[in-house]
Amino acid sequence: MSALTDRSWVEISSTALKHNLSTIRRNVPKRTGILAVVKANAYGHGVEWIARQSTLNGVSWFGVANVVEALELRQFRRREPIILLSAVLPAEMPEAVRNDFVIAISSLEEAQRLARVARKLHRKARVHFAVDIGMGRLGMWHEEAVAHLTAISLLDDLHLEGIFTHFPCADDDPPMTRHQWRDFDRVCSEFPQLLVHAANSPALLSKNPLLKNSKLVRAGIALYGAGPTRASEKLLRPLLTWKSRITHIDHVPAGRTISYGSTYRLKRPETHAIVSVGYADGYHRLLSNKADVLINGKRCPIRGRVTMDQIIVDASHAGPIQIGDEVVLIGKQGREEITANELATLAQTISYEIFTSIGKRVTRYYQ
Ligand SMILES: *Cc1c(COP(=O)(O)O)cnc(C)c1O
Repeated sequence: MSALTDRSWVEISSTALKHNLSTIRRNVPKRTGILAVVKANAYGHGVEWIARQSTLNGVSWFGVANVVEALELRQFRRREPIILLSAVLPAEMPEAVRNDFVIAISSLEEAQRLARVARKLHRKARVHFAVDIGMGRLGMWHEEAVAHLTAISLLDDLHLEGIFTHFPCADDDPPMTRHQWRDFDRVCSEFPQLLVHAANSPALLSKNPLLKNSKLVRAGIALYGAGPTRASEKLLRPLLTWKSRITHIDHVPAGRTISYGSTYRLKRPETHAIVSVGYADGYHRLLSNKADVLINGKRCPIRGRVTMDQIIVDASHAGPIQIGDEVVLIGKQGREEITANELATLAQTISYEIFTSIGKRVTRYYQ
């Protein structure tokens, strides 16, 4: 799979992606389409491969963050619609219109600006109207949305195709999300001709009855199998295993200190494995003295601070080790598993940031 010279790499599983897509499909109403959210290089997994595998498994739409990502995706996905999930800068509008990307619009004013750009290009801009139900990031607040939408629907140079919203706490506040979903549904019911989408990963797994009013669900983290909640984690399979190698072994006596800042002092002698990964690869420095890695299927704790290119782990209880041995940072080895969520908790973040932090130096392998 990997080359012996690889110092840090990820292995990405097509079986897991298939499994997650069929889990998503089973959890949403029959005719609901799946929009794969592939922003930020498919949450660090590699957009080209994820996009191709997703279409082979029934994904019909894609979502990205901006025009640059959309242009990259368009090179290998010619047919599927691509929606830009952040506001488009005025300077990006011509490129977005020329390429028929779906543009999220938050106000009448923004729609008018876009309509002027489209008219100059003798094209219609493809538009989804964003409704804000409590995120405060994109869209018109739901109380004012109907008035704006009515005016926007009269603009000739736009093709007003859809309406959508985004939930701020679908993962940790289902009652609030149900309330927000009703606010959104009230706006949608005034415009029955529009294509509706609302659910992100936690919402699409929530079995909310209003799901049936959506044409699409937008699947991000669920696709990648990290599970937005503990319960959903059981339904999904992580796509990604992150590995590295032992580059050096050190037998260290009691009393010595380890790594920058000398934050770890040995109480008894330990066998240390130096592993070729660091914060420059996206292995967070907040994991210093906290996270474990797997060697020979055993948990080995990190000693001292994570450095730019290397970490030091206590492999005293891992059995025989050799230079070049594989080390698992995220994933399974033997009976043990380290999940992205486990590292995220230790680094005071979420799995999304763990994935999107995995750096350029880390080779991606697909299987
Ligand atoms: C990123 C994003 C998603 C995907 O969210 P997940 O929690 O990963 O499913 C969906 N919709 C919008 C608007 C987004 O920005």
